[in-house]
Amino acid sequence: MRGDVLLRGRVVAALLTVALCGAAGAAEPDARPRRVLAVHAFEPGVPANAVFTAALRAALPLGTDLALFSEHLDRLRFPDPAYEEGFRNWLRAKYARTPPDVIIAVGVDALDFLADPGTTPFPGVPIVFGLAEEGAVAARRLPANVTGVTEHFAVRETLALALALFPDTQHVVLVGGASPQDRPLNELLRREAAGAGTRLDVVELFGLPMKGLEERLRALAPRSIVLVLALFRDGAGRQWAGTESMPLMVSASSAPIFTLHAHLVGSGTIGGVLVDYGETARLVARTALRVLAGERVEAIPVQRSGANRTVLDGRQLERWNVPDRRVPAGAEVRLREPSPWVRYRWAMLLLATGFLLQSTLIALLLLERRKRWRAEAKARENLAVVAHMNRVSVIGELVGSLAHEINSPLGAVLSNAQAAQRFMAAGPGDEVRSCLEDIVRDVNRAGEVIRRIRGALRRESWTAAKLDVGAVIRDAVRLVMADARDRGVSVEVQVAPGLSPVTGDEVQLVQVFLNLLVNALDAVAGLPEQQRRVRIIAEPSGEAVAIRVVDAGPGVPPSLAARIFEPFFTTKPVGLGMGLCISRSIVEAHGGSIRVSQAPGGGAEFEVLLRATGGAAGGGEAEAVG
Ligand code: ADP
Repeated sequence: MRGDVLLRGRVVAALLTVALCGAAGAAEPDARPRRVLAVHAFEPGVPANAVFTAALRAALPLGTDLALFSEHLDRLRFPDPAYEEGFRNWLRAKYARTPPDVIIAVGVDALDFLADPGTTPFPGVPIVFGLAEEGAVAARRLPANVTGVTEHFAVRETLALALALFPDTQHVVLVGGASPQDRPLNELLRREAAGAGTRLDVVELFGLPMKGLEERLRALAPRSIVLVLALFRDGAGRQWAGTESMPLMVSASSAPIFTLHAHLVGSGTIGGVLVDYGETARLVARTALRVLAGERVEAIPVQRSGANRTVLDGRQLERWNVPDRRVPAGAEVRLREPSPWVRYRWAMLLLATGFLLQSTLIALLLLERRKRWRAEAKARENLAVVAHMNRVSVIGELVGSLAHEINSPLGAVLSNAQAAQRFMAAGPGDEVRSCLEDIVRDVNRAGEVIRRIRGALRRESWTAAKLDVGAVIRDAVRLVMADARDRGVSVEVQVAPGLSPVTGDEVQLVQVFLNLLVNALDAVAGLPEQQRRVRIIAEPSGEAVAIRVVDAGPGVPPSLAARIFEPFFTTKPVGLGMGLCISRSIVEAHGGSIRVSQAPGGGAEFEVLLRATGGAAGGGEAEAVG
């Protein structure tokens, strides 16, 4: 738009330069500034006039070479011929020394006043007119010094637009004023509406006082549309500018109001096929410059103002519930209020995304909590069961050791009993008593083994007792000894002297060391015989007692160090993967800890730390079995 104005500005400047240079090149050089006199039919405040004047000033390259003067006839308010006579004389006197080079007649009244040889103050001066309805111009005989630009009020096209937007329209309500300036426009409305279609009922609200007009608009029949072309003066004699009257009519009307003037879009009207007086002014300015450039007025034909444009007010379309599909292609919809979704799209998207993320996060957290809660409950519930399972799983080991352990006391019982029988046959004596004592001791030993096994297999909570760590270790070693011997593994036990006792369940702790020893035996099984060594060392470690089971096997890779304590983790073809898991729960239940590391000479080193109870129990010793 701005580029367009600039371009036109350049065109007119060029034309003017040609005009001025042409004048300078003539025999009598004329360097005086050119003068354009605009004589307006209406006072400056009339909106159409204001739009025209602003566009005219913008389109003329005004400056030291070109001056614009403005006068206002205002016949609407001063229709007195005597006043006009005085106005003519006054203009003549005012411009006697500085006569205009071209006159712009703005409005039909101004054209009539200036073109009539009887009334014009400036006979023979070229006239370019604007703001004149084409029918009114056609009805006049224009003198040779007159050309200009006519308006086409697209009443019929606007009615067609109204019917497209409101297809069930039955009543077309025409609104017009009471002044002589209104009358031809009312007539135009009547004529065009009559030609628009016979099925429509046409209602004329011409020349009513504003109050009465508002009343009528309030009580319109359903399926009406209203069309306003002009209302210069109402039936009560009040002058109106369209920008003042339109909002009043709109707020009263029970039907949509169509207009024909571009400058009224935004005053509450729904729109129409519109004339734009700015466009007219630009054409008029260009024509005036051509005249100033030396073109003969007679050679410039009267032109029609630029094509009327269909413009609609988006808010009104919404107010009257017009679906978008009814808006004709090519129509310009202005002032459409973007929906909150469009206006705050990014904010809303951001909000929605944030909300979604938050909800997902909350849902995930809830799910996670629920899962954890269930897992914890399950773990709690299963701990005793798993512990029991493990004990059963090591039953194979126990049974093997048990058979061996019980075999030797039973063998001793048998040989003692047989010896006693022989001594009895020879006669009673000290030998018999000694045999019986041995039998009682061996039977007690077997009974103790059985008692421990039963304790291990029973699912019962542990009983705390002050325990000698060395004794616990030896018990465990004894259980694996037969197996160790079979496999050719030497088991070395080192218990530091004066080691503090620990508090715990003997059977359970035996089970822990039994597990560690069985794993150690497995670990060294594949090595050459002289390397099949397992050591179990107990020594103080600060406030605790550390028991380390060290083997020379392949060791535990750091990547598996944590996993081997998980339930059912095994690398053995027939392993259950519960030994370490259970060992850990037992050790932790005793307030201790268990960890694995690499032994200094390679192999695995399992370290169990148990809280020392205080007070010495038993002396240090070292033994090797192999
Ligand atoms: P299982 O002995 O039934 O496999 P554990 O829980 O006792 O179950 O042991 C889990 C795994 O830890 C074993 O399968 C083995 O891979 C590894 N492991 C345990 N002790 C040792 C060790 N002394 N040397 C090497 N790996 C070991």
